[in-house]
Amino acid sequence: MADLLYNREHMPDTLNVLFLAAEAEPFVKVGGLADVAGSLPLALRALSNPDRPGVKIDVRLVLPLHRVLRAESATLRPVVEFPVYRRGRSLPARVFEMSMAGMPVYFISGEPISTATTVYSQDPAQDREKFAFFSLAALEMARRMEWQPDIIHANDWHTALALYALRSQRGDPQMKRVRSVLTLHNLPFMGGDGMDVLAAYGLVPPIDDALPGWARTQPLALGLWSADEVVAVSPTYAREILTPDFGCGLDGFLGSRSACVTGILNGLDVAAWNPETDACLKGKFSAVTLSQRSANKTALQHQLGLKEDLHIPILAMIGRIDQQKGLDIVPNVLRQLTDLPWQFVLLGSGDPIIENVMRDLQLEFPEHIRAVIRFDAGLSRLIYGGADMLLMPSRYEPCGLAQMIAMRYGCVPVVRATGGLKDTVAEGKTGFLFQAAQPAAMQEALRRALVVYASPVNWENFQRNGMAEDFSWTRSAVQYAELYRSLTAGE
Ligand code: ADP
Repeated sequence: MADLLYNREHMPDTLNVLFLAAEAEPFVKVGGLADVAGSLPLALRALSNPDRPGVKIDVRLVLPLHRVLRAESATLRPVVEFPVYRRGRSLPARVFEMSMAGMPVYFISGEPISTATTVYSQDPAQDREKFAFFSLAALEMARRMEWQPDIIHANDWHTALALYALRSQRGDPQMKRVRSVLTLHNLPFMGGDGMDVLAAYGLVPPIDDALPGWARTQPLALGLWSADEVVAVSPTYAREILTPDFGCGLDGFLGSRSACVTGILNGLDVAAWNPETDACLKGKFSAVTLSQRSANKTALQHQLGLKEDLHIPILAMIGRIDQQKGLDIVPNVLRQLTDLPWQFVLLGSGDPIIENVMRDLQLEFPEHIRAVIRFDAGLSRLIYGGADMLLMPSRYEPCGLAQMIAMRYGCVPVVRATGGLKDTVAEGKTGFLFQAAQPAAMQEALRRALVVYASPVNWENFQRNGMAEDFSWTRSAVQYAELYRSLTAGE
């Protein structure tokens, strides 16, 4: 791989990548996209080190200057100002810059961005305006900078229109060499019908029968149509989106582009998620000091008001309460497992109907079940570090972070074999998998897990195997670097 990556004869010494995202840690976080956009660019830059001669990937991050940004505005330096045209009226876009660990980060401001009080609005039309403006301004910024990108890397629907506009600028000598990558974190979120916004910003829907009519005004679909390469966040999800079950109506179109669709697993911030240093844990531990983990289990049982008994396995779920996560099949699974000892804790919030089902389940099993309906980062860490199993019966899971965190914390995942879950959890080695999103299939996998749990030596093998997995961002960064190189080879 190194030769392919770092062949200097045919490759430029430095690849410039402009990375566009709606959110990124540590500036602003709503969901998993912020983890990716905060970590991957830095991991790519870190590839340029003395151990990897010849490589230099100069990635720079671009974000909207959301009103809720955590960055201190005093540290922002104004860089450039230019107009973005909307229905013939010029809207000023201002670009500011700051540095994060040596990486330039650009923030774009302008009326459609500053009028929004939250990162994502309840009003889809407002979001389309905001992100269309942001995407077009980011592209215009790239045209005006001295530093010229070789690649524009967009993420999800919010920034997909930058790639669509780029494609329409291929006649422009300055832009014609720029290649594009779109990372797909969640296919169902396409941005909605953007006919109005396309018209407002002077973009015309494509005439291409490969793309279904309804999709020709959806920002994400336009990005998928335009990108030189589409990256799904796991190899299995990259295959799944080509099928009717997961393709959200775009499976046929994506199939026609399948040579340009690939999968690269997300990484995990292994410094932020480290059971040896995690301040939220009662007992810090590593694979060699696994016995110290039990202090967390006792603390968790105590905090939740459950019976403090190290022999009772704690089954846990942490995540958004949503149809996607398959939580609705859990009550029947637990009802069928009453012949065995277990405790169950759910930490999450979301769909009010499913939240109430889980509250009712706690009332049905007051001795065994706790439904903690809130977002609580500290409690999540104690659960990862103290519970025995993490359940993820997801209907679909593009990548999934929770199962990777769980493995790193010695909490064994019991997951549905889909998307990134299938790619990260190894049956019979680091966890337990089941196929159908049905109570019977999940119950069968849980029973298998509970049998192994009853034998501490075997269980510890699962825990240690999971803890030994490498989920660092470097692995993903090397694959993205290889992809960038292949897209620009021959330029
Ligand atoms: P998704 O991105 O689909 O929401 P992931 O598994 O990829 O799911 O990531 C979810 C992340 O959010 C994990 O880090 C998980 O620990 C965290 N999380 C989700 N819900 C909660 C909650 N209620 N309290 C604390 N952390 C949560």
